[in-house]
Amino acid sequence: RYKKRQVACRGDIDRLNNPFLEIYESLIPAEEEKAKQKQLLTLLEKIVCKEWPDARLCLYGSCGNSFGFSKSDIDVCLTIGDEDINKSEVLLKLADMLQLDNLQNVQALTRARVPIVKLMDPSTGISCDICINNVLAVVNTKLLRDYAEIDLRLRQLAFIVKHWAKTRGVNETYQGTLSSYAYVLMCIHFLQQRRPAILPCLQEMKTTYSVTVDNVECSYFDQVESLIGFGSRNRESIAQLVWAFFSYWAYFHNYANDVISVRTGTILSKRTKDWTKRIGNDRHLICIEDPFEISHDLGRVVDKSSIRVLREEFERAAEIMQDDPNPCVKLFEPY
Ligand code: ATP
Ligand code: MG
Repeated sequence: RYKKRQVACRGDIDRLNNPFLEIYESLIPAEEEKAKQKQLLTLLEKIVCKEWPDARLCLYGSCGNSFGFSKSDIDVCLTIGDEDINKSEVLLKLADMLQLDNLQNVQALTRARVPIVKLMDPSTGISCDICINNVLAVVNTKLLRDYAEIDLRLRQLAFIVKHWAKTRGVNETYQGTLSSYAYVLMCIHFLQQRRPAILPCLQEMKTTYSVTVDNVECSYFDQVESLIGFGSRNRESIAQLVWAFFSYWAYFHNYANDVISVRTGTILSKRTKDWTKRIGNDRHLICIEDPFEISHDLGRVVDKSSIRVLREEFERAAEIMQDDPNPCVKLFEPY
């Protein structure tokens, strides 16, 4: 059903760099927006400390991992030392306090998979989700941010891929397509696999950062300033990388056997992960290993019908990159 196809030469590929860079630039949040996010975080810290003086607030998700678009919501994690807290009680209490402080649209979603309080701050216009003790998300946010420091092409590629996924409707986990987090991992893995490599594998290097969260040891080399320039022997441009990324997922990835793994910087087999058969709702039709929770496949949301949608979208994007004189128009056409 899926095409195997040799990727043809496209001599004019570098002509396409500027349009891609323009899109990237247009999606980056302005400094003043960052300042507003900080302002909101400070306000929330003040409110939270009244009730829980030892609590900490951390940004996670796209506003903390450097892959956030302008005007996106912010994700905040409240860490309270006490392990035995009742999250629902804390969230309901927090919601009351936020309401009293004039934050708007305050809503506690205590039954969600990740329970949160939602709110909107009228003075900055920013919407925010607050979760509790989701420390693993804070740590994987740092890993993504550290990778982004090493080579600018990661941030550029991931912005283009996320923008494509959002406009094409394949960034909806509740419809069986992939999360933004999964797409960023796909980009990191892809750049680890280029020859010469554009990104190293931080978890295979000397440990300079280590925390244990929920019995998961998270350790890697985080002194990334010393790795700037790591990928400079590879001169591929952003247009070439976008093209190669979509071609990989359209024509070359082995969906039947392979698992992509940022943790090892390699491809693992489904067999070694024991991801060969469906268990419950986990079908493992596209396999993306979480860098820390290694039994966790970020492709597990994908089902029989959404894998088709995804693969057809990868093929469509690869074909546009191969043939279209102005790929930036068609690539981001709303579906
Ligand atoms: P967007 O710009 O679309 O809001 P985002 O970077 O905030 O993107 P999400 O996919 O909404 O990405 O996820 C937010 C954060 O939650 C991620 O950065 C990651 O830390 C964490 N996260 C999301 N999904 C998972 C998952 N399946 N396993 C572990 N952590 C996850
Ligand atoms: Mg988010």
